[in-house]
Amino acid sequence: MPSLEISKPEYAGQHNLMGGRSDLEEAKSVNNRFNSPFVIVGPPGVDENSVAEMLKAIGTQASTAGDLFPKVAHEGPCRICGETRMLTEEHIPPRGAFNKERGRTVEVGALLSREELEMPDEGEVFQGGISGFTLCDDCNNLTGTCWGREYQEWARRAAWLMRSQPQLPPEVDETPGYARFPSVTFKEVFPGRLVRQVLSMMLSISGSAELGQRFSDLRELVLGGPARPLPDPLRLYFLLYGSSTARICGGERGQAWWSVNERKLRRILSVDFCPLAFVLLIEGPEIPALGVDISSFTTWDTDKQGEVPFSNLPLGFGHKPWPADYRSRGQMLADRVELDGE
Ligand SMILES: [Zn+2]
Repeated sequence: MPSLEISKPEYAGQHNLMGGRSDLEEAKSVNNRFNSPFVIVGPPGVDENSVAEMLKAIGTQASTAGDLFPKVAHEGPCRICGETRMLTEEHIPPRGAFNKERGRTVEVGALLSREELEMPDEGEVFQGGISGFTLCDDCNNLTGTCWGREYQEWARRAAWLMRSQPQLPPEVDETPGYARFPSVTFKEVFPGRLVRQVLSMMLSISGSAELGQRFSDLRELVLGGPARPLPDPLRLYFLLYGSSTARICGGERGQAWWSVNERKLRRILSVDFCPLAFVLLIEGPEIPALGVDISSFTTWDTDKQGEVPFSNLPLGFGHKPWPADYRSRGQMLADRVELDGE
C-alpha cells in the first residue's frame, strides 16, 4: 500500500459545519453527481500486484455481495444481538445518507484482471440503495430510530463541505497526492450516536453474529449500553470519501490488509460511501495515517451534544476493490508511472 503522508492538494481555510435545512439542498445537488454507487466486496487483499496471484493460490475467500447482503427475508442470527429471528432489511449506510439510488454490483473477479482504472460496465443492477436482510426487527428499529438520523447529519454536512470547495471531488480525484482538509469542525453533533450507527453497520457487514459475540462491547454499545472505550485492539477511523463507487469490505474476520512498507498484517472492515468513509481495525497495530481516529467517540454519552474539531481530515477515493486504498486516480497514475520507470 502507498504511504499516506503527503498532503497535497490541501483545502485552504477553516470550516465550521453547522446543521440546518439549507444544507440538505446542497447535499442533494452533490448526490446528483454521485447517483450510481457500485458495491464492491473486497478480496482478502495484499497489494495490487499480488492479489490475483494470491487468490489463485489459496482459492478466493472474497465474500460475494449475496452473502453479505441477503436479498430476501429469512430466519437467521441477527448480526447485532445474535438471536435467531426473522431478519429484516437494513440499508447500509442509512437511506437518508444518500443511499437510495440504483447501482450495480461488480464482482471482485471482474475487477482483478483489469488494467484500466475505470469500472467495468457490467454486474447486477439493484434498485433503491444498498441493503440486505441482516438484522432482527428490534435491532433494526432501535438503530434506525436512535442512531441513523445522526449519521445522516454528518453525511449532509460532509456533502456540503465538498460542494463548497473551489475544487470539487472529481477534479481533486485527477490530482496526484493525498487531499486533506487542514481544519474542519463539526458543530452541534452527537458523536456517541454517530459511532453507534457506524458500529452497527460494521456488525451488519461482518456477515454473521460472530463479531458481536467476540467483542461484546460492540454489541452493547450499538444496543444503547453505557459509553465505554472500544476494546483493544479495535480502532475506528474516519475520512471523507469523494468517489461515486461505494466499496464495502466485510466478513467475520474482516479483510486482510498487508502493509508492504511496514511488513505488517492487519484485518479491517470498511464502509466507503460518498461522502463518508469508516474503517474498523479488528486485528493488528494502529494505522494513524489512514484517517482520523474516532475510537474515543464511544466514550461520549448518546445524549451529549458538542463540537468536534478535526485537523488534516483526509478526502479519499475508491478505484480498486482492495479495502482502504484511498488513492486518487491522479495518484494511482503517478504510482504506475513510478513502477514502470523502475
Ligand atoms: Zn437483533
